[in-house]
Amino acid sequence: MPPLRLLQVEDTEDDAALVQLALSRAGYDVLARRVETADALRRELHQAEWDLVIADYTMPGFSGTKALAIVREQHPDLPFIFVSGTIGEDTAVAAMRTGAHDYIMKGNLTRLAPAVERELREHAVRRERHLANQRVAYLAYHDSLTDLPNRALFLDRLQQAILRSHRDEKGLAVLLIDLDGFKEINDALGHHAGDLVLQEVATRLRGALRASDTVARLGGDEFAVLLPATDVNRAELAARKVLHDLQHPFVADNRPLLVSASIGIAGVPWHAATSDDVLKKADAAMYVAKNHRSGYIVYTADRDQRLTGHSSLASSMRQAIDGRQFVLEYQPIVDIKTNQVLAVESLVRWNHPELGRLLPDDFIRVAEHTGLVNPLTSFVLDRALTEWPRSVRGDACGIAINISPRSLHHSAFAGRIQDMLEQKGVDPSSLILEITENLVMSDPDGAIRCLDELHDMGVRLVIDDFGKGYSSLSYLRRLPVDEIKIDRSFILALADGEDDTLVRCMIELAHNLGLTVIAEGVETEEVLEQLAALGCDAAQGYFLVKPGPSRDIADWIDRRDSASL
Ligand code: C2E
Ligand code: MG
Ligand code: MG
Repeated sequence: MPPLRLLQVEDTEDDAALVQLALSRAGYDVLARRVETADALRRELHQAEWDLVIADYTMPGFSGTKALAIVREQHPDLPFIFVSGTIGEDTAVAAMRTGAHDYIMKGNLTRLAPAVERELREHAVRRERHLANQRVAYLAYHDSLTDLPNRALFLDRLQQAILRSHRDEKGLAVLLIDLDGFKEINDALGHHAGDLVLQEVATRLRGALRASDTVARLGGDEFAVLLPATDVNRAELAARKVLHDLQHPFVADNRPLLVSASIGIAGVPWHAATSDDVLKKADAAMYVAKNHRSGYIVYTADRDQRLTGHSSLASSMRQAIDGRQFVLEYQPIVDIKTNQVLAVESLVRWNHPELGRLLPDDFIRVAEHTGLVNPLTSFVLDRALTEWPRSVRGDACGIAINISPRSLHHSAFAGRIQDMLEQKGVDPSSLILEITENLVMSDPDGAIRCLDELHDMGVRLVIDDFGKGYSSLSYLRRLPVDEIKIDRSFILALADGEDDTLVRCMIELAHNLGLTVIAEGVETEEVLEQLAALGCDAAQGYFLVKPGPSRDIADWIDRRDSASL
């Protein structure tokens, strides 16, 4: 048991000693100090921590009630007991009324130890309750995982900052930050790893910004930053700093993970006047940044009109699938050594009656979130297998289809593909399915089962956007894939003169696993030559030809074939 830190307000040393003796006998290890003036009492309360105050009621130069008042100034709850001579029942009751916890007669100290024990215990209970209340109040405004302010506190601070910005005539900005692919991390590595990532993101966000900026977690993988007294330039600077600081790999489960984020920026008074509106606009900008994989985007009204967000696109999507507003373009994949067209990749476009032509980045996510991606995948498969002319190089020219993660989780998916191939009379080996690493990571077992079935049928499988995710070598080994397609961001970086180590490693790694390597996003002749030198097998990109309608691309292939004859 720790020593009992006892402060005694007592003019006679003998009486003080008797009290200590009574407590020692009861088993307390007493560490006592005696004072007899107001000044000395204040000093002791100030200098040290005490568990208990025991005061005489009547002293020549000081009084017990005065001592109690002084103690209460600083410690409203510290156990306080009077030990005094006979003072009569009325006085005792009055003393208790002033806030003492008990009153004990000097002549009868047997009651002292039980009273002390009771008061210490009740004090501990009161303190715990108080801490718990404080914690509840804290939690109402903070996120327990990251300790950051939560949505409620963020909104409160935002509203205060908007009022202040009117007064000071200075602007403020909100950054809405959403992690990319966080769900896949959670699904593949478990919630514990996901939690670690969120905590580390919180730490990095705090580190990237000033103490006067509010960083909050709004929920899930969504964070928000409030930059008071700022302008759009500084907000963009802050966004770049945040993205930069998130670039270093995270470590969860002893493995490195890359986490990227999309940031939407909106400000008062530039884009909005109220807290609701500025958040809505930052959210709209974030959504565009996510779709364009552009890191961060500052809100503009124009973007808002073009992409009014999930709801209106989602509601018109089903009709659009039935109404044939979706069309396909094709882009050839060419063997770098032989110059032959190995396959064409189908890329879906949406001719929206009001918004004009939309690219997949504008609507695939919406389709995935609304469950419309399966009908869309079926439409694309059916259309591609129907309209791509079989006459072009016969079955030697494969047709590659992009498959959304969600389609593969349907147990009937492989069967549906088989039926469709039979119905169209297409050889399974002509069909190539492009899948992303993340897809496999998010439900490895289910996905692998489905991929095995497809592979056994003779369908070819490609890992698309390779290098962007975080699949490990051991995962790749378990997959029945034949090819990888290096993500275009790596190839575009080559054109910018970036060091080719990463691309070289990916090619070597794939070749060691017996996989063929395609590079997408080849925009210049130099890059194509560089890839040839690195031993890359196939290429796709604007340098060869941009995606186009089936007729145009079939003609392009014919012209090439006859030129090389
Ligand atoms: P992806 O499968 O990686 O497709 C390649 C993307 O790179 C296409 O963009 C293509 O137009 C673009 N690209 C081709 N060559 C170059 C080049 O030289 N430079 C640059 N900068 N880009 C080039 P697109 O058509 O916007 O498609 C974007 C993504 O949308 C695709 O990426 C694919 O993941 C997805 N997608 C496309 N069609 C479908 C579909 O039918 N179903 C599903 N689920 N997803 C699709
Ligand atoms: Mg693709
Ligand atoms: Mg790709």
